[in-house]
Amino acid sequence: MPFKALGLHPLILQAIRDTGYTEPTPIQAAAIPEILLGNDIIGIAQTGTGKTAAFTLPLLHRIHSTQPAHPHKTRTLILAPTRELVVQIEENVRAYANHVPIQITKVYGGVSERPQIQALRSGAEMVIATPGRLLDLMGRRCADFSGLEHLVLDEADRMLDMGFLPDIRRVVNALPKKRQTLLFSATLSREIESVTKEFQQNPKVVQIGKRSNPAETVTQFVYEVPRHLKTSLLCHLLNDPKMDMVLVFTRTKHGADRVARKLESLGIKTGTLHANRSQNQRLRALADFRSNAIRVLIATDIAARGIDVDGISHVVNLDFPPQVEDYVHRIGRTGRANAIGDAISFICQDDHGSLRSLERFIGRGIVRKKAEGFDYAAPEPPRSLEEQQRDRGGRRFDGPRGGGGGGGNRGGGQRRGSGGGQGRGQSSQRPQRASSR
Ligand code: AMP
Repeated sequence: MPFKALGLHPLILQAIRDTGYTEPTPIQAAAIPEILLGNDIIGIAQTGTGKTAAFTLPLLHRIHSTQPAHPHKTRTLILAPTRELVVQIEENVRAYANHVPIQITKVYGGVSERPQIQALRSGAEMVIATPGRLLDLMGRRCADFSGLEHLVLDEADRMLDMGFLPDIRRVVNALPKKRQTLLFSATLSREIESVTKEFQQNPKVVQIGKRSNPAETVTQFVYEVPRHLKTSLLCHLLNDPKMDMVLVFTRTKHGADRVARKLESLGIKTGTLHANRSQNQRLRALADFRSNAIRVLIATDIAARGIDVDGISHVVNLDFPPQVEDYVHRIGRTGRANAIGDAISFICQDDHGSLRSLERFIGRGIVRKKAEGFDYAAPEPPRSLEEQQRDRGGRRFDGPRGGGGGGGNRGGGQRRGSGGGQGRGQSSQRPQRASSR
């Protein structure tokens, strides 16, 4: 089905053509007509399915094609859990709104609030925000949502996980009752259902694919490895030049920094994304990853939420996620929009239970692999006092909001990792990956 058949405005179709999309993804084909009709919807779709365009394209159409009841007031509010996701949604929206004159602004913490206040006061038609900063500015009467027509709750499941429900409730209570509300979530849990009852009216459920199926285009492998050899195994696997754009997940911020230091010491350009990094450092790491200035990005779950980077060749779960949902989100970072990708998980003795739950959840076993030429019997290398201290301080899980500028590193190394042949220019045999924007 071509995009034209969905009834979108010609100027929006032109922007879609500019991005290079040829046809709607299943969630777009299902959600766009419902949203154009003005219905509330619950979109159950994993990341990487094209859900951002599924709600932004029809909302842009509605804003552009109808006169506002209240001129110069915000018409659409999109709430998302993290700053990174807000930035990515805004980039998407700007691309899709390239040919329509719509004022868009983003609101999130960790950066100066003055330009955000100015944009809100000038009546930006579309506001994309994290709940915390928005609530703060609303409390100071910097935002006027009395003319609001559309509300989107994106990654609603994660917003609930992060404890944003009270903030969201306060924001929504300040909005007009008569509005269209769209909710997107990777899963339809009991909590999500109760939220939809509270915020939506007769929502239609648009569900794509089975909830239990991580992106079909991702090949999944498991490597069993002693805990102390995980970083060595990662370095060993990185000798393969096909691993040219690698997103690694660790359980803790300190773990992320430790692995990054090791890779950098081998000359593998590496960045980190976690809650101890400032907003600018995180955006920089993402930009470097996108532009291939770094080959490996090491992230914790919360910081990596909603990463929208095309062409990720491999996701590596250096630490296996205890929650099935996190696994699904992590591996959804590769194989986006029908591109091809590999997901590799390292499994230690303690992870067998979690792995079995995951296999039950996705309804199939995951292939076990052994890395050729890797010494699985190598002894634990001696650790410096500094490392031991850091380890002791790094037991906590990453939190939703970070403090000052922690360790981390990026760029830097000139040498290539051992084994050579890691140059990005080497041709990969994988099928072409989808590109966006
Ligand atoms: P999302 O699920 O919104 O995070 O989108 C995943 C990726 O798919 C993004 O990189 C989008 O740019 C891309 N994308 C969205 N819609 C399409 C489409 N119709 N055809 C190809 N790629 C798309």
